[in-house]
Amino acid sequence: MKRALMILMAAVGLLTGHSQAAPTAKVDKVAPTFWWAGMKNPELQILLHGNNIASSQVSIDSEDVILKEVVLQENPNYVILYLDLSQARPQTFHILLKEGKKTTSVAYELKQRTRKGEEVQGFTASDVLYLIMPDRFANGDPSNDVVPGMLESKVDRSEQYARHGGDIKGIADHLDYLQDLGITAIWLNPAQENDMKEGSYHGYAITDYYQIDRRLGSNEEFRQLTEQAHAKGLKMVMDMIFNHCGSENYLFKDKPSLDWFNFRSSYVQTSYKTASVQDTHAADYERRIATDGWFTESMPDFNQRNRHVARYLIQSSLWWVEYAGINGIRQDTHPYADFDFMSQWCQEVLNEYPNFNIVGETWLNSNVLVSFWQKDSKLAAPRNSHLPTVMDFPLNALMNMAFDEETTEWAGGLYRLYDYLTQDFVYADPMNLLTFLDNHDTARFYKKDEDTRNLNRYKQALTFLLTTRGIPQIYYGTEILMAADKSEGDGMLRRDFPGGWAGDTANCFTAQGRTALQNEAFDFTRRLLQWRKGNEVIAKGNLKHFSIFSGTYVYERSYQGRSVVVMMNGTDAEQTLDLTPFQEVLPRREAVDFFTGKTVQLEQNVVLQPRQTLLLSF
Ligand code: CA
Repeated sequence: MKRALMILMAAVGLLTGHSQAAPTAKVDKVAPTFWWAGMKNPELQILLHGNNIASSQVSIDSEDVILKEVVLQENPNYVILYLDLSQARPQTFHILLKEGKKTTSVAYELKQRTRKGEEVQGFTASDVLYLIMPDRFANGDPSNDVVPGMLESKVDRSEQYARHGGDIKGIADHLDYLQDLGITAIWLNPAQENDMKEGSYHGYAITDYYQIDRRLGSNEEFRQLTEQAHAKGLKMVMDMIFNHCGSENYLFKDKPSLDWFNFRSSYVQTSYKTASVQDTHAADYERRIATDGWFTESMPDFNQRNRHVARYLIQSSLWWVEYAGINGIRQDTHPYADFDFMSQWCQEVLNEYPNFNIVGETWLNSNVLVSFWQKDSKLAAPRNSHLPTVMDFPLNALMNMAFDEETTEWAGGLYRLYDYLTQDFVYADPMNLLTFLDNHDTARFYKKDEDTRNLNRYKQALTFLLTTRGIPQIYYGTEILMAADKSEGDGMLRRDFPGGWAGDTANCFTAQGRTALQNEAFDFTRRLLQWRKGNEVIAKGNLKHFSIFSGTYVYERSYQGRSVVVMMNGTDAEQTLDLTPFQEVLPRREAVDFFTGKTVQLEQNVVLQPRQTLLLSF
């Protein structure tokens, strides 16, 4: 012990220099915090922040790491290094900042990779994502509710925009619930640090791209959560935001250069009208204000055309994949960022991890506009976003109408779904569309508690969501009929999951804690999700559908000689469905209905009760 201590002290003395006259340059931020040897892209940017460090001479003490470039910024508190790691072995080397006779040493670790890029499996249409807002799901560790020194230093569950104390431990404590429910992937709203004064419980104002918010847990806890989820057959999707950061981020508060943020770091509001990106008639003003304007004054807009910004953001995403082994990224406000940069980012991630998946938030109102953002879109050519998965917001809107209306042969109700899907040729890959009834930004599928008494609406919607094409996503609490409308405030769309906090009056994680109606919804959801899990007909099958006959929508999913046929009555009346049009999807004269367990005769007609759905497997 004593000998080791002396060697350590000698090393410290050597590294910090012998002059005691003045303090040496102090580096307070290093990004990335560490990296790996053996990544496909051999270049590494290291961003150093510290008081006046730009006046130092920079070198490194490694034999196989090459320092290619040292870049200074307008702000003397930054030094940016570019390293060539193509020959680098796993090691800890030192970045030496020499100022006169004084040398500051920053140890930098290149770790041994623990996974091959090909082994990282992304989410696919075989999965169902379950979206959780970490602050609002379950409070597994009340001791982290308030972290001294952080700017928002209280929890208040009665206030919709305050922090409520949910955390990673709370999610880890309920992995069994999620596994039993039958979802196969967890998507977390951003868990990265949001050290803002207020209103950042949702996570979309990141103040440190390499740090899990300490009120949610540590980086290690997040890594362990991902590992535990994997052990239960659940994938992990991480939310990222490249368009903007929180204004308390050190990159903004002490910005390297004014051109790290759009409009030279002064606040100009975005129009949110991102259709201008692909609009052939768009005025230059429209495009610029949409993509370069700031999301809000407290969310400054990154200039990804600055190569240092671009490299910083790309590396931060690769870091989380390699560190935690996540299976996917959900990219916030995808169309608001620079198109070419985002395309480059997708390519680089998929180059390192070819089986990975990325879904971009493409909140646009038509399939034409959404399709533009998907990889290999003919409509975007010759440009290519390289974004594998886009969000089906138009279908979300239609699903929120279709199950309330009477369906006819030419309008309303389920006709809307049929009509929309007839236009799927606009998409380069319709199976890679994220489909959802609701999410953290929309009204919940039930806007009011009293509406939940009409449970058939949910049963039909969920059946459609889980059997049509695409990658379904369920929002936490939808399975227990949590209701809220956007007009109540966004915080109300993100209410606490009942039972996630000690002392909650109801614990909806258990059957005993749920009402009879909630149990009916939960059991229906669970049964359908468990049926879908591992079902290749749904995960990979072709979709063939018919126009509306007798108010009923009929479609088939088929794969390698097996098929599933759905017959959904979209009216409040009993319907006698003449089976003549459907012969090509009815290989047998009878089939068992999944929902009732009864054998259905498929001769001349089928009689469907009001809003009844048949789910027949062949
Ligand atoms: Ca907590």
